[in-house]
Amino acid sequence: MRRAVIAAARRMNRLGINRGTSGNVSVRVNEGFLITPSRLPYDAMRPQDVVALAFDGTQRSARSRRPSTEWRLHAAVYDARPDVRAIVHAHPTCATALACLRRGIPPFHYMVAVAGGSDIRCSAYGTFGTQALAEAAVAALRDRRACLLANHGLVACGVTPDDALALAVEVEALAAQYAHTLQIGEPVMLDDDEMRRVQERFRDYYAGRRSPGRHADD
Ligand code: ZN
Repeated sequence: MRRAVIAAARRMNRLGINRGTSGNVSVRVNEGFLITPSRLPYDAMRPQDVVALAFDGTQRSARSRRPSTEWRLHAAVYDARPDVRAIVHAHPTCATALACLRRGIPPFHYMVAVAGGSDIRCSAYGTFGTQALAEAAVAALRDRRACLLANHGLVACGVTPDDALALAVEVEALAAQYAHTLQIGEPVMLDDDEMRRVQERFRDYYAGRRSPGRHADD
């Protein structure tokens, strides 16, 4: 689990959705979670550097590093959402640009449904590392697996760190596509019926992908 957290953190930078150590990755474990430490470069990170926290922030081993400054955000999401088992938080350029306009991503493209609904919300603003930000993120994530954080970045949730990372990459791609579209004109939005149809197809697609011997087309 510790290695999976480190691998996802390193991939986050290689994929270009994060720079330096501003992002963070966590995974749920028994009665708590494992999270990347504060300010340690991912390439220098060893399994023992990953911090084990209880949901109230108590460190579960005596001599461990300081957890990511956003541990409250991770703790609050795990507390509110039993379905979430891994979280990626980062500041990718296009998602962050929209978040600085306090704009979420509307149903301009069917792939928006990948986050679980007909839009990807932008949260209210909260100072980094605070409980206010954590609560704003939980509210924006209601019935969704990802959201933007106002004037800050994005959060993506999943069943594994890789799953959460893949969603973060998809949200950043959607943010880039939406920003490009806005430079040309006003996009035609898909309606609620169509977004519901897309979500049903996604459910079949993901159910199919998880059962052995079945492969989706794309
Ligand atoms: Zn951040």
